[in-house]
Amino acid sequence: MSVRWGLIGASTIAKQFMINAIRAQADGEVAAVMSSNPERAKAYASENGIPAAVSTVDALLGADIDAVYISTTNELHLEQGLAAIEAGKHVLCEKPLALTSVDAKQMVAAAKAAGIVFGTNHHLRNAGAHRAMREAIAAGRIGKPIAARVFHSVFLPENLQGWRITRPEAGGGVVLDITVHDADTLRFVLGDDPVEISAFTQSAGMAGSGLEDGAMCIWRFKSGVIAQSHEGFTTKFAGTGFEVHGSEGSLIATNVMTQKPVGSVLLRTASGEEELSFDREDLYTRSLRQFHAAIRGEGQPSATGEDGIWSLASAEAALQSSKTGKSVMIDPQLGSLA
Ligand code: NDP
Repeated sequence: MSVRWGLIGASTIAKQFMINAIRAQADGEVAAVMSSNPERAKAYASENGIPAAVSTVDALLGADIDAVYISTTNELHLEQGLAAIEAGKHVLCEKPLALTSVDAKQMVAAAKAAGIVFGTNHHLRNAGAHRAMREAIAAGRIGKPIAARVFHSVFLPENLQGWRITRPEAGGGVVLDITVHDADTLRFVLGDDPVEISAFTQSAGMAGSGLEDGAMCIWRFKSGVIAQSHEGFTTKFAGTGFEVHGSEGSLIATNVMTQKPVGSVLLRTASGEEELSFDREDLYTRSLRQFHAAIRGEGQPSATGEDGIWSLASAEAALQSSKTGKSVMIDPQLGSLA
């Protein structure tokens, strides 16, 4: 039996990565796409070989589909997610799950009550590089983790210089766009949760309407690990990276905060340097494979709804800190839906 997907949102990310990832599954089918604009829906369906095009969420949910992938602008995720859950469809939702963690919690709790599979599309924890780092840390290869550094400041491509830098009401800004990914990757690689965040944000010339296009955050984790992260839309030549430094060694990953299965991970210890090897599977294809397995009752999506609540709450804390000039604590019970 195949899993028939309905796309909510005729988006760039679906076109660039997710349609392929669904089709890469032996049992994956893209059955329909919904755009708020009927002409765009038709054009998008035809360009991407999708059999049905609709212009309302109700019409999509009424079609013969098993699951939806939500990749509209961020303010729409909550309402569309709740509608899909009510219709009994499995939901893979883009980050941030909503505009506030309270809303995200409501959606994830509704999914749990309905017994459907709900995942957050945090792609980076599907990267072989990040999984290799997580395994090396869990195996004690750097001793006790002490500190981490995330370099995730990029240049927002011209074709994406729209709502992200102009529309606060759509959830624009670099923190909701990229800090959420850094929160998730730090949690995943360290196997730890943040407890406190302090942040500075800036508007370095690209974003308007009071939105930030650069951020630097300082994080404290439950175990005592401290971390720093840099997210940006305006640095053309920065490159990306992720480092974790421990009592017995350091992991230094280069070019790994990206959508592609690229980059390298170096382990440096008293015995010298070692390049870690890792698989180069497409990140989104792996995410879809885990999601399909979860539908069959095997395990969970690679990033769950609870993971999406954590990443959004972290971004929220960073934004609040940047406004108040004070560090912000994160509720340790955040992920619990009880
Ligand atoms: P896009 O701007 O491409 O699409 C968002 C919405 O904008 C679409 O749903 C569409 O509305 C509308 N739209 C898109 N293109 C056009 C156009 N040419 N003319 C008019 N309207 C248009 O957004 P992204 O694909 O960059 O992001 C979508 C979501 O995915 C966001 O939540 C973002 O955070 C997330 N994302 C996640 C990534 C990841 O790696 N996990 C990477 C990139 C984005 P309609 O559907 O009504 O036509």
